[in-house]
Amino acid sequence: MRVGILAVQGDFAAHARVLQRLGVQARLVRQADDLDGLEAIILPGGESTAMLKLLAPGGLMERLRAFVSERPVLATCAGAILLARRVLGPEQPSLGVLNMTAVRNAYGRQIDSCIRLARVRPEFAAVLGAELETVLIRAPRFQDLGAGVEIVAEADAENGCEPLLLRQGRILAASFHPELGQEDKVHRWFLAQAQTALQSR
Ligand code: GLN
Repeated sequence: MRVGILAVQGDFAAHARVLQRLGVQARLVRQADDLDGLEAIILPGGESTAMLKLLAPGGLMERLRAFVSERPVLATCAGAILLARRVLGPEQPSLGVLNMTAVRNAYGRQIDSCIRLARVRPEFAAVLGAELETVLIRAPRFQDLGAGVEIVAEADAENGCEPLLLRQGRILAASFHPELGQEDKVHRWFLAQAQTALQSR
């Protein structure tokens, strides 16, 4: 399967290492043509404002919007911010394909980075197990989840629970960094879903 990783900024190399461990040689995507022939893509963490600036030249933003509108996507942290329908804290443009609001830096600053265990919803426990290790670094909060968005994993919060991993059809979006943890579960699941999507095309 031909999987790309957006590589204009951020921790794309860490995702590439996980995929390599899983036997997939990813293509780094830096310009619009790099998307040609790809079957799935990872949007990594980093700094979404910087990514937006680097996506503008050469039509990459528009090609990427078309790609993520129809192909399997794994988006982590800043990548999930890029995908969101709406971005707050402050407002900024986005690809607008994931039906939720991403509130940037909602869990605090760099110094507040932490590892939390997230509870996997029972319907996803067969593939992901009961818990996921989540590395949160200036992470966005996912809120105002709209139609078609499922909570896959969540953590306790002051006012109930908050989602840390979402699925909307062929899109997986994590507020955390699965590529920095000790587990490959999220990437394995993404590759399996991408494989299924490929076979049904
Ligand atoms: N706070 C960053 C942003 O707004 C995301 C942080 C990350 O990807 N670890 O883009």
